[in-house]
Amino acid sequence: MQIAFIGLGNMGGGMAANLVKAGHSVRAFDLAEPALARARENGCTTFATVKEAVAGVDAVVSMLPNGAIVKSVYAGDVIGHAPTAALLLDCSTIDVATARDVAELAGKAGYAMVDAPVSGGIAAANGGTLTFMVGGSEAEFAAAKPILEAMGKAVIHAGGSGAGQAAKICNNMLLGASMVATCEAFKLAERLGLDLQTFYDISSKASGQCWSMTAYCPVPGVGPTTPADNGYQGGFATGLMLKDLKLAMAAAGDVGAPVPMGHRAEELYAAFAEAGHAGVDFSAIIKTL
Ligand code: NAD
Repeated sequence: MQIAFIGLGNMGGGMAANLVKAGHSVRAFDLAEPALARARENGCTTFATVKEAVAGVDAVVSMLPNGAIVKSVYAGDVIGHAPTAALLLDCSTIDVATARDVAELAGKAGYAMVDAPVSGGIAAANGGTLTFMVGGSEAEFAAAKPILEAMGKAVIHAGGSGAGQAAKICNNMLLGASMVATCEAFKLAERLGLDLQTFYDISSKASGQCWSMTAYCPVPGVGPTTPADNGYQGGFATGLMLKDLKLAMAAAGDVGAPVPMGHRAEELYAAFAEAGHAGVDFSAIIKTL
């Protein structure tokens, strides 16, 4: 297929490369020249504008920083410029309302569009092992699946338009809250004189077990190798966790859902980011407890 790829940053760069590896012809656009240079090294053809990149394509994939940018790119440069037969897939993490808005705009102009945010970080984007949560009709999901499969290990239909974003922010709100809870359990265990490896051995097989503990342990030297073993570098940045928690709080406000634990996690991550730690892995929040 001819696929336009817009936004070739930390995540999009690897995703576009995996589309090339799967045999697609990728027409890339980004505002940053280094991102375009990397895309060319990975076998993409680069263009000076979105409008040129989307001309004549079968699909458009985007991986952009936020909802305002997604809306302006689709409304200004994709809709009306890509063929109406092209499937539009936005993989960015954005707010549910904007995702639905843009899909509606696209639908009115005759396009099929899905929201398809991802779980998994830069390593999963490079390795083609992302999990995609897809919002759209059955037919749109069926059309999107083979394209997304070239970039991920799992492609799940979350429901109608916006449901992918809804699943993503609910998941990441749970992750933020469970990471804080895991960190405080380790710190309390330490104060109570427990050996932390012993606590891990017990809790990872008991009812406190969770992904933040067994797959992403925030304590260096305990559990599997994680960013904690690398000075909290790499992994999932605190700033991105905060972004997702803010999206979750906004969505909860829109529908009047009480989210006291998510709200507290957002406060703690906001304070941690404001203290200058937005770039470190989110499990480093353990240092504040
Ligand atoms: P990034 O900042 O590395 O990449 C974004 C890219 O978009 C940049 O190269 C930037 O130049 C480009 N861009 C910005 N405005 C543009 C425009 N108008 N037209 C074309 N290109 C434009 O960010 P990232 O880490 O790759 O994240 C991208 C998305 O993926 C975000 O929505 C983020 O929340 C989500 N996400 C990131 C991770 C992660 O671990 N980094 C994990 C899951 C989801």
